Amino acid sequence: MSDNHALGFETICIHGGHTPENNRAHLTPIYASSTYTFDSAEQAIAVFKGQEEGYIYGRFGNPTINEAEERIAMLEAYGLKDKEGNQLKLKAILHSSGMAAVSTMLLSNLQAGDKIITHHSLYGGTQEMIDKILPGLGIESIIVDFHKHDEVVKKIKGDKQIKLMYLETPANPTLQCIDLEVLSGIGKEHGLIVCADNTFATPYLQQPFKYQVDFVMHSTTKFLNGHGTAVGGIVIGRDLEHMNTRVTKMHRLLGGNSNAFEAYLLTNGLRTFSIRMERHCSNAQKVAEYLNNHKGVAHVNFPGLESHPDHAIALKQMRNAGAVLSFELKGGFEAGVQFINKLKVCTSAVSLGTCDTLVSHPASTTHVGVPREKRLTFGITDGLIRMSVGIETIEDIINDLNQAIKLIS
Ligand SMILES: *Cc1c(COP(=O)(O)O)cnc(C)c1O
Repeated sequence: MSDNHALGFETICIHGGHTPENNRAHLTPIYASSTYTFDSAEQAIAVFKGQEEGYIYGRFGNPTINEAEERIAMLEAYGLKDKEGNQLKLKAILHSSGMAAVSTMLLSNLQAGDKIITHHSLYGGTQEMIDKILPGLGIESIIVDFHKHDEVVKKIKGDKQIKLMYLETPANPTLQCIDLEVLSGIGKEHGLIVCADNTFATPYLQQPFKYQVDFVMHSTTKFLNGHGTAVGGIVIGRDLEHMNTRVTKMHRLLGGNSNAFEAYLLTNGLRTFSIRMERHCSNAQKVAEYLNNHKGVAHVNFPGLESHPDHAIALKQMRNAGAVLSFELKGGFEAGVQFINKLKVCTSAVSLGTCDTLVSHPASTTHVGVPREKRLTFGITDGLIRMSVGIETIEDIINDLNQAIKLIS
């Protein structure tokens, strides 16, 4: 099944990467085994040398993990061609978390003296990794506004130490979108490694490998799993040789491997990925339009609205605008806190991409420790609410938001 890339997207969601199993189980079992056996010393030699496929040790991978990896690699490569015009083949490595995947990718591509070029509003953990951990290893970063293409070129030309371009689109919490085609084009023209965090968009909406991107990372915790049952991450690469050597080595040695149970939950969640996304997106568009006309709401950030500054970029590279949005309540900080308290259907929680609608007030939760002035520069205003729109009945989501806003205004 894994070689047949002519299959449709939904079929891949259900069958992609599945290998029939010895005991004829319909679904790939949860392989709860830390080590794997060999038929003979000769076979062990062949597996260790990489001449024969085979599992060795749980930290390196197992059949349950492998199925999730192949399925996600197939979804990211869906419909794309390699230089020879054949179906593009990608290699994916599943990790224990999105941050583990990002760490493996960064550390397998960078060394002391190298620099990263990136933009504001990356995922908080990635930002902290770049600001607080990498400098100690001699890896600095340069922040540019990725909307200013000339400035990006100038910065790259002026600094030969820049080795890697890090993109995230759409980005938190303003849902800013970056032009993947233009930026990855600039990156590759100057010999950089280009990588993109595709967590918010997922391969259903956007495929960075369509452009010249070298690596894609995901927090599989979000839409790919879709049910909020497991934390996980994945790094997917175009250069198979590099993935099978340096990146695999880094994954094994950093030890951020996934496990069979959480890989199983991910694979199971992926079966409904496409239809979930369809409903997530249509619900989100309706919620955004509703809030945009609500008198208790000052502003809505959603790339699916014409008022969003990056609406055109989103339309160009995404099938749909996604299911994450943020909006500003007129009443400020206190309104944000009260609003959360009044919700009855929507769930008050951070994270995103689960079947249920998740709502959070960053100023009083994720960013409560960030000084107000600094938080405002990130676009996190006092009354900002972030929402990951779920797949509940749309009227129930909208009625819940409406009653909560009415009670505070
Ligand atoms: C959640 C998230 C991450 C980190 O993933 P974890 O699974 O929490 O480690 C990275 N990037 C983005 C865009 C995210 O939303």
